[in-house]
Amino acid sequence: MVITIDGPGGVGKSTVAGLVAEALDLPHLETGSTYRAAALATLRRGGDPAAQGDVLEALDAVILSFDNGTVSLDGEGVTTAIRSPEVTAASSAVAVHPRVRERVVDLQRSWLWNRGDSGVVDGRDIGTVVFPDAEVKVYLTATPEVRAARRATDAEAAGMDVSAIAAELAARDHADSTRKASPLHPASDAVVIDTGHLSADQVTEIVLRHVTEAQALTLSSLLAEHNPQVIDLTRTLRAVVRSALPLATEKVNIGWHGLGYHDPDAGYVAGIFPGEGSVKLGFEHGVELPDPEGLLVGDGTQLRYVVIDEWDEKLRDPVTDLLEAAVEYGST
Ligand code: C5P
Repeated sequence: MVITIDGPGGVGKSTVAGLVAEALDLPHLETGSTYRAAALATLRRGGDPAAQGDVLEALDAVILSFDNGTVSLDGEGVTTAIRSPEVTAASSAVAVHPRVRERVVDLQRSWLWNRGDSGVVDGRDIGTVVFPDAEVKVYLTATPEVRAARRATDAEAAGMDVSAIAAELAARDHADSTRKASPLHPASDAVVIDTGHLSADQVTEIVLRHVTEAQALTLSSLLAEHNPQVIDLTRTLRAVVRSALPLATEKVNIGWHGLGYHDPDAGYVAGIFPGEGSVKLGFEHGVELPDPEGLLVGDGTQLRYVVIDEWDEKLRDPVTDLLEAAVEYGST
């Protein structure tokens, strides 16, 4: 799953993105650091960040890598160096050049590709340009005053007064939203969150709620593809289990119960659910244990399953085996 978090400087994107990534155990890329690293590489070579050719030359000459919140330039850790006021100002200048952006966006896409196409990525144009097909897109906003006050507490801004920070943010806002290449604006399908009166934890909670909804949607469209004929049960079951387990609980405590797996803490059952003339295969939330007759009791509000309209009894054993294998696979 790809989650993009965009917004202007000082809004708290990277804090929230880090918390979301931690909660979902996904890798996190702060793309501001990719432009900052390009700016530092240019400055170190004596180049002019405002000259596209100088920045491209610098990018040709160095190897940049981004991993676990650390940034390196030719193997040297530059995570702190890219936060200096000089590099901060230069980063907005290098980010204006379309060909520089293409190169940096390639780096960002390969970062995600190398991590199995799953991660939390924050920046300015991530939901609009870099990963337009992301499952969850978030755009954070806050007034310039709130953002300047937040920045004032960053180590990066230590020693600067709030009005100097506000002026610096305003200059970068202007550069970011008026540039021709990938200007800063929310994607049409982004969830816009005004973070002004919210803590980072509260914003994270809202984002995680959207992630849960998107996982359910992804799952139902996946299941719809297979309905009513389940062409590839293994793939479907694995996908069902893989998607539903992280939604259901962190404490996976699955016990075999007849034709289903039940997690009493999270209140879901994974299994084969007989119905009138059809069989449902997958997960049900908000259910209690099947009663001794094998019927499910529940409010049926959050169903995640494939309906097999023409259930063939001969399928029961192989499907049960597959379900068992899929649950094991999904929980590892
Ligand atoms: O987010 P951060 O302040 O580290 O970003 C530094 C600069 O990089 C921004 O001012 C912006 O000009 C540029 N940037 C961008 N697109 C992104 C991320 C950052 O243009 N996706």
